[in-house]
Amino acid sequence: MGSFPVETFQPLDPDVFVKESQAVVDFIANYYRDIERYPVRSQVEPGYLSKRVPDQAPIFPQPVHTILDDIRDDIFPGLTHWQSPNFYAYFQANASTAGFLGEMLCSGLNIVGFNWIASPVATELESIVMDWMGKMLKLPSSFLFSGGQGGGGVLHGSTCEAVVCTLAAARDSALSKIGSDGITKLVVYASDQTHSTVQKASKLVGIPPSNFRAIPTSAASDYALTPDSVRSSMEADIAKGLVPLYLCATIGTTAIGAVDPLLDLGKVANEYGVWFHIDAAYAGSSGICPEFRHYFDGVELADSFSLNPHKWFLTNMDCCCLWVKSPSSLVDSLCSNPEYLRNKASDAKMVVDYKDWQIALSRRFRAMKLWVVIRRYGMANLMEHIRSDVAMAKHFERLVAMDRRFEVVVPRKFALVCFRLKPRFQGDDASKLNRRLLEAVNSSGQAFMTRAVVAGMFVLRFAIGATLTEMRHVEATWKLIQAKADGLLLNGSSDKSFFL
Ligand code: PLP
Repeated sequence: MGSFPVETFQPLDPDVFVKESQAVVDFIANYYRDIERYPVRSQVEPGYLSKRVPDQAPIFPQPVHTILDDIRDDIFPGLTHWQSPNFYAYFQANASTAGFLGEMLCSGLNIVGFNWIASPVATELESIVMDWMGKMLKLPSSFLFSGGQGGGGVLHGSTCEAVVCTLAAARDSALSKIGSDGITKLVVYASDQTHSTVQKASKLVGIPPSNFRAIPTSAASDYALTPDSVRSSMEADIAKGLVPLYLCATIGTTAIGAVDPLLDLGKVANEYGVWFHIDAAYAGSSGICPEFRHYFDGVELADSFSLNPHKWFLTNMDCCCLWVKSPSSLVDSLCSNPEYLRNKASDAKMVVDYKDWQIALSRRFRAMKLWVVIRRYGMANLMEHIRSDVAMAKHFERLVAMDRRFEVVVPRKFALVCFRLKPRFQGDDASKLNRRLLEAVNSSGQAFMTRAVVAGMFVLRFAIGATLTEMRHVEATWKLIQAKADGLLLNGSSDKSFFL
């Protein structure tokens, strides 16, 4: 009595697999159908979940429908609905059917292709897909396997990993010249708009935090890094006996979408012999459209370039493309060759072993996902996806400009609009007012935006990119923002968030 049926336990029975995965697919499809019913930003208080779920793991199995019921009742309230059409926060994680199918295949095959022999097609498909992507973006052939100049691409999970790996490669190559004691002299350059991931990565590879330069930008350069400011920062460091190591430029910064001038920065980087990385995590996907490709001018001067298809390329989390001109510098820094991984193809250096291009040993079959997305949609639809988001952002920008109480703080970049309520009189605390406006919108549950500070101004970021967003959502959200502004400006006391 009560004994567990161990002898019949088959966790990968194909018939059960069909039945249960069908239940999950139906569940997710209903979720997408009903998604507008849920508050976009979760409204729970910290610690809510421990009051709802048992504090012990079950001993006996539970049916899938019970688990799905609990997900709806207990997990959903704690979800911020990133796939909601009214999600305008951060940068999106835009899901798609093809992205999901690719993820399912990746997960269903569940191989671990750390080196070529561990599953040859995983490496070979990844190299092919990275070349496909590189050609779609018109990257120089020096970044492609097919370019025959030693370059190539790899899939990571995040930009942070890509930056850590390229920084490690740059560090080791510099230390081989100046000696390992020289690590305290190495300096990393970026702008005050660069994503914090670069500063974190510098710390992770042992660069002293005091050797990270967040070079100030201003409205005069549209918040882009200027080559002169980089040059003078490098000169000042050299005068102190320090060694410039790495410069990161961005296409589409996180706060406002600023674009650094790659060509001019690349010339400075090349002149000082520093590793030049381009972070295009969000906006890089737009490079497949000819009208955005000019932002990439100068990419040929870079040592490495990365972008996240999981942000704006209909590829479900997670997926970061990294191209390097000299993968051998990555391999020199990241290679490990224990006996148990040795094999003829690797020993003969006939193959790429991606374990030496990344941090971890194990790796997912992400190439399958990206390959399915590109094949299923084709460049035509992928371009249309980018263009329709940009068109909606343009429309939103026009709506903001038409309301005299508001201002667009920096001109729209890609599908990102930064705006605020203008100060109403001299000395008005516009930051406080805009903070309240943001909270009023987000706590309504009808839309979710995030914030940035630009030249000391608190601004609201309206980033379009969720796959389900249509013009009607953008227009309804603008009406919501206006209504919340009315509440604050006319009879603020009736709006609860006024007192927050
Ligand atoms: N770079 C930029 C420009 C970003 O916008 C982001 C995240 O939004 C990142 C890097 C960080 O990316 P990841 O989370 O993949 O490390």
